[in-house]
Amino acid sequence: MNCEGAKDRLLDYLNNELPAADRATLDAHLANCPDCRHELAETKQVWQLMATVPTPEPRPDMRTNFYAMLDTFAEAEAARPTRSWTSILDQIKSFWTPTLAARLAYSLLLVSLGVAAGYWLQQKQSPDVAYRQQIDTLSSQVQEMRQMMMLSMLENPSATERLRAVSYTKDISDVDGRVIDALLTTLNNDPNVNVRLVTLEALADLGHDSRVREGLIHALPQQDSPLVQVALADVMVKLQEKRSLKPLRQMLRQEGLNDLVKSKIEQTIRELS
Ligand SMILES: [Zn+2]
Repeated sequence: MNCEGAKDRLLDYLNNELPAADRATLDAHLANCPDCRHELAETKQVWQLMATVPTPEPRPDMRTNFYAMLDTFAEAEAARPTRSWTSILDQIKSFWTPTLAARLAYSLLLVSLGVAAGYWLQQKQSPDVAYRQQIDTLSSQVQEMRQMMMLSMLENPSATERLRAVSYTKDISDVDGRVIDALLTTLNNDPNVNVRLVTLEALADLGHDSRVREGLIHALPQQDSPLVQVALADVMVKLQEKRSLKPLRQMLRQEGLNDLVKSKIEQTIRELS
């Protein structure tokens, strides 16, 4: 694999979407190529930066700016009627250095231009509806990016990165099944107890979701760390989840159960009964 091939695959690599063979080839290339390692680090940084992109909300001043921007855009277009989108895009493209970070920024720019163009086309029909639609599209794109990033970071070998990934769930407004599955898998399988505890906290905040509740009940007998066992028992009380009584009683029969955990579970059973 050459550098160009490697760089083309970095995003998929970070997303864990590469076939195992490609991944191994890329790993081998990265081990020997400081240039591509640097680009990988840069790409990761951009992903993390994207997490801080605020979800756009319609605000009066933003709306004014948006109209002003569209006016300027329309004027420029009227002045140069022969100018095509392609030539504008080519010009924009030439501003960016060909690093992956810039390519990502460029594709984000394309999204915004697409939104602006879509808005411009619909504006005459019904400005309010069109505006609302564009804002919704942008918001859901930002949400989708956060989810993708969070899911890929959960696979990171560094526990710090995984902790950060879990903390991102607070910024995701519509947590979907993929995120819930990933969090439950992390709670049950992550080798780091701190990551598991933070994940449990994030899941407890999502306790209004029935899938989360079911997952937490099933997670009870799977925990081997006393810290997580005690915290999970607390969550069951907080959620007043009576369906946890059965797995809690099963846990009491586990061999080698920590004494503190045992009395905690007995107390939990009393509180829920
Ligand atoms: Zn390389």
